Amino acid sequence: MKAFMTRRKSFFVAATAALALSLSACGGTTPGTTSDPTVADKPTFAAGTTMAKLSAAGTIKIGTKYDQPLFGQVGLDGKPVGFDVEMGKLIAAKLGIAADKIEWSETVSANREPFIEQGRVDLVIATYTINDKRKQVVDFAGPYYEAGQALMVLKDNDTIKKPEDVKGKKVCSVTGSTPAATIVEKYQAELSPAGTYSACLEPLRNKQVEAITTDNVILAGFVDKEPEVFKLASDETFTKEPYGIGLKKGDTEFRNWINDQLEAFGKDGSYKKAWEATAGSVIKTAPELPAIVRY
Ligand code: GLU
Repeated sequence: MKAFMTRRKSFFVAATAALALSLSACGGTTPGTTSDPTVADKPTFAAGTTMAKLSAAGTIKIGTKYDQPLFGQVGLDGKPVGFDVEMGKLIAAKLGIAADKIEWSETVSANREPFIEQGRVDLVIATYTINDKRKQVVDFAGPYYEAGQALMVLKDNDTIKKPEDVKGKKVCSVTGSTPAATIVEKYQAELSPAGTYSACLEPLRNKQVEAITTDNVILAGFVDKEPEVFKLASDETFTKEPYGIGLKKGDTEFRNWINDQLEAFGKDGSYKKAWEATAGSVIKTAPELPAIVRY
């Protein structure tokens, strides 16, 4: 595969922050490796805080996506890899928890809030857009990345270029996601709902739907795997999807502490390193850490 890497094509995605995607001609880069963060040696935290509890337990439960190349995907060894996964490893490391002590679970778009509310996970890091509706039931640290909604179509499709073009057409997206709501409410598409984004791939391939919609960076991962089959409908995005780290509502100390860590990752190079080890293999423009929203 390596030899083919020189035959890469590049194109540009103008998102809220521009993304340059470089697609492998042979279809797919190796899913992200790891930035291997240094694990804090016996860090101390104020008694009674979630940080103190997790640190003492020596483990943390994190929900992430398992089927999204670049941000969260389970590799051949059964372990998740991607930019979201690296964010989780960085936070765990600051609690003195090594990557192999993290208890991962798959969170799909629709079960992220319930998993947090029920305490099945301590954190959700899963291409999870911060919005007011979700903030009624969970809290968010971040944002740590800003994506934007886009459309993916079959390579030979020249009729769908912008969201207005899917009016009345069948579009696959995932139940409980912000893009599924937007494409119906704002652009009057006929939604074909799925449980995960990878479950939308076959319906598009078989022309049961005309497009898949979600965040540009998720679609970019699928296009990178099969550049001869799929393409982004356009370089433009049509929403802002600021990614946050979901946690239990009301745990302000934990939220503030995570925000402090994110800011530190932006300054000490670990944010950049995490990006380069994962999504940066395909998306060539490295993001700056967005301004943290403390509320
Ligand atoms: N960021 C959007 C959301 O949180 C779409 C991606 C996803 O479903 O994970 O709903």
